[in-house]
Formats: sequence, C-alpha cells, structure tokens
Amino acid sequence: MNMITDLVRMWLTRSVKPFVFTGEFDSRLPYEECEQLGLYVHIPFCRSVCNFCPYCKMEYSKERCDRYIDALIQEIHLVGGRGEEKKRVTSLYFGGGTPALAAGRLKEIIDALGRYYDITEGIGVELHPSDVVLPVLRTLRDAGVTKLSIGIQSFQGRHQAVLGREAADPAALAARREELEEELARRRLEAEALSAAMDALTQANARLQERFSPELNRLAGAYMARLTGERYSAVSLTRELEGFVRAGGDVLPRSALYLSRGTADQLYLAVRLAVCRLCLPEKPPILLDDALTAFDDLRLEPALELLWELSREQQILLFTCQKREGEALAGVPGVTRIAL
Ligand code: SF4
Repeated sequence: MNMITDLVRMWLTRSVKPFVFTGEFDSRLPYEECEQLGLYVHIPFCRSVCNFCPYCKMEYSKERCDRYIDALIQEIHLVGGRGEEKKRVTSLYFGGGTPALAAGRLKEIIDALGRYYDITEGIGVELHPSDVVLPVLRTLRDAGVTKLSIGIQSFQGRHQAVLGREAADPAALAARREELEEELARRRLEAEALSAAMDALTQANARLQERFSPELNRLAGAYMARLTGERYSAVSLTRELEGFVRAGGDVLPRSALYLSRGTADQLYLAVRLAVCRLCLPEKPPILLDDALTAFDDLRLEPALELLWELSREQQILLFTCQKREGEALAGVPGVTRIAL
C-alpha cells in the first residue's frame, strides 16, 4: 500500500523526490494581503495508522497530544501577536489525523486563534466515523464548531480491511443514527418551546412597561418627594431599571449613579415601596433590612414618618443594627420594638 501511495505522489508531483519538510519559518507569515485566507490546524494523531494514508500522522498518546497542543497554542500567540490588528479569515478547519481525539482542547486553540483572527464563515472539523457520538458532538458544538466532515472511505468491510481500517458495524451506526435523530427531535421541540416562551415574555414585558412604568414613576416620585422634603420630586426608571431623579431646578434628570450614597438609598427605598404597593395589592408585610443605614439624621426623620404612615395599611418589619431608629420610634403608636 505504501508503494501505491508513493507512486500516486510521484504521478501527482511529477517528481521521484520524497516530500521534504524544512524549518524555514521565521515567525512571520506573509498573509496580510491575502483576501480569502483560511486557517488549517493539523492534529496529527490517530488511534491506529491506516496503511493507505499519506498524511502526517502518528499513533495517539494523550501525553504527546497535550504537548503538541501546548506548543501549538504558543505558536499561535507567537505568530498572531506579530500582526497589528485582527486579520479577517474565512474559515478555520481542523484536520488530521483525528482531531476528535483532542476534542476537549479544541476550544483552547479556537480561543487562542480568536484573539488574532476574525473567523467569518464558521469552524469545521474532520471526523472519523467512530467519533460521531453525542459527547464528542456536544464538545465540538460547545467549542464553536459549525461544520463536520466525516471521512467514511468505504462502507464495505472488505474494502475497509484492505485499507487497514476497522470495519464499520452497520447495526451500531444505525443505532447511533437513531440516537442522533431522537436527540435532534428533542432539541427541535425545546427550541420551539423556548422561542414561543421568548415571544410571550417579550410581549408581556412590552405590555408591562407600557402600563406599569408611568404609574411606578409617579408613585416612586411621590415617595421620593416625601423622603427628600420635595427636593427631588420626579423619578424615572429605564427598561433596564436604571433610576433617574430630577430636582426642582434641573433641566435634565440625574442618573442614580451620580447621586450621593444617602440620596441613592432614598431613591432605592422610594422605588421599592412603590413596587411593593403596585405589585402586591394584597399588601403583605414589607421587610426592610438595614434600609436606612446610609441615611443621616435629616434623611432618617422623613423616612420613618413615611414608613409609619404606610404601616397603617401594611405591616412593615424594619430590621436594623442601629439604636437610633428604635429611639426615634419609641412611643410612636402602632410601633413595636423587639430586641434580638
Ligand atoms: S485515521 Fe485518517 S488520518 Fe489517521 S491514519 Fe487513518 S486515514 Fe490517516
């Protein structure tokens, strides 16, 4: 078989000289001007070596394969790091050899390449038929692989014997196919259910924003005005629930990010109370855990007044590790102090 391989090579190259691989690489690849650049990564390990195979390959050993990949990743950083900016490449393809033997490490290689190259048309991997199994396929999918190329060679046992390949077991292949079809059907159902749920959530969110936001802004603004002695009387919340307040003389609202800690906590308390009031019409107890710790004495007084007023309609449990709240509320009708 090797003789046939050699003869084919001579015929193709019109030369009797064997291939000679030389190490003339100088860490710089002249690909900057190349418009349709594709990357090929060779993983030269196979479980057993087929006697017809002309490619660069050797028998797999985990230790050797790991050393190869470590060196490969170093090489990628060495070469890729020389470029000024990311190079656009059409595709990335892993061949061999049997790249699936290193399936668990392909993501590391892809991530390393991703630092220097933008891959625009997907990532492919060559697979031996015996590696078309769910764990390998899942690992490849999670690594970002989008295309598979399966090297069947032949379905005939006698041809495979000549080629030095293990005969494929038709029953095992049929069972695997069935398993994959079931998995595919299950995934399709999941995808349909997720898509329907996403549509419903998006619509519900839009309706909620439309109906709920103005009321929430109004009530939170009213509470904020009470808490700040009318200094801030308007509150608005974005779709991402980022808070803004507007003071009397302000032309533009201020983001909560630029407020002092005490004012930001007043806004947070105003929004929480408004959400509780609007979302929980049954008025269950409201739990506030150290909600007033950033309030100075000037802020504390209107906050306790507001909470006391609201507590006439809805029980409020205010947990605090400070004495001042308890002292300020001592003797107020309807307030119970419990020391823990
Ligand atoms: S498995 Fe593929 S790459 Fe490996 S020796 Fe056989 S034909 Fe060559």
